Amino acid sequence: MGMQWTPAVLHRPQRGRVQCMLCPFRCALQDGETGLCGVRRRSGDRLETATFASSVRHWDAVERKPLYHYRPGTPCLTLAAPGCTFACDYCINHRMSQYGRVDSVRWDAEPVDPAEVTGEAAGRSGCVAISYTEPSLAIELTAALAEAGRPLGVEVVWKSNGFLTAEAVELAARHVAAVNVDVKTLDERDHRELTGARPGPVLDALTGLRERGVWLEVSTPLIPGLTAGPGTLRPIARALAALDPAIPWHLVRATPAHRRTGHAPTPVADLEAGVRIGQEEGLRHVYVERALGADGRATRCARCGGTVVARDVWALGENLLKDGRCPRCGAEVEGRW
Ligand code: SF4
Repeated sequence: MGMQWTPAVLHRPQRGRVQCMLCPFRCALQDGETGLCGVRRRSGDRLETATFASSVRHWDAVERKPLYHYRPGTPCLTLAAPGCTFACDYCINHRMSQYGRVDSVRWDAEPVDPAEVTGEAAGRSGCVAISYTEPSLAIELTAALAEAGRPLGVEVVWKSNGFLTAEAVELAARHVAAVNVDVKTLDERDHRELTGARPGPVLDALTGLRERGVWLEVSTPLIPGLTAGPGTLRPIARALAALDPAIPWHLVRATPAHRRTGHAPTPVADLEAGVRIGQEEGLRHVYVERALGADGRATRCARCGGTVVARDVWALGENLLKDGRCPRCGAEVEGRW
């Protein structure tokens, strides 16, 4: 089925144009014009989106988003509407995310029925995840899923690039229970080179989402020769610790993909060094999914050091927490358990 355009939120008239206020590009569009993301367009005096649709629909674990401190072991019915506000040259999902930017990417999404999706999620006591592409571009779909899911106890979670305006943060926080945000680097030049956008709004979004009660985790890809070193990792760890040392930080091994193919996978030594940096800067929970074995995925009590949640790859191993507290020393472990 081709693109179906439906009414979009977060726009305003601006000097004869219609301005989209979803992401910090704030495209001011003439009639019929499509924004930089390729999935939102002006039609008359309103804005429309093509993202009430999904290219994928499958079950996976919340650990795979990754979200480690949000309802461990919860199955996620995962959707992805094509499109992204970033153009990362290392994106492993570029065949979906780069719709509208890369000519060879074809539209392959089908319309989504929120009642039907949340009904299926409720049947497995699961949640709905929007992932792989940029979920904030599907904010209307997110709101509809959250509203349909609320009476069923089904929540919506995101894996996002965090490139949101303050208005979008405000709206998202009403509908999203947990979000993992990619923080790739705080270096202005490197961030622009990697994504095509500024890093500042991403940090602002982290603050705004956390202040509004959304459970927040952060991922950083360690791209050899660009973001894998201490010059990138320490400023990120410091910024996260200043915001809240309880924010889980996931260090992601980068493999060659899309247009960035000239490097080997991130060396294990770089991931180990990243964990040390996170701990030195005061972060309580620093994770590496696979390269450091089960140790890299385990949640430890910040007070006594005992393991409180053990994980397999992309799955819960054992959750030992008692009402969100360490079973050994009773200390609270931050999260939505
Ligand atoms: S979401 Fe799309 S249309 Fe809206 S400001 Fe961002 S790039 Fe432009």
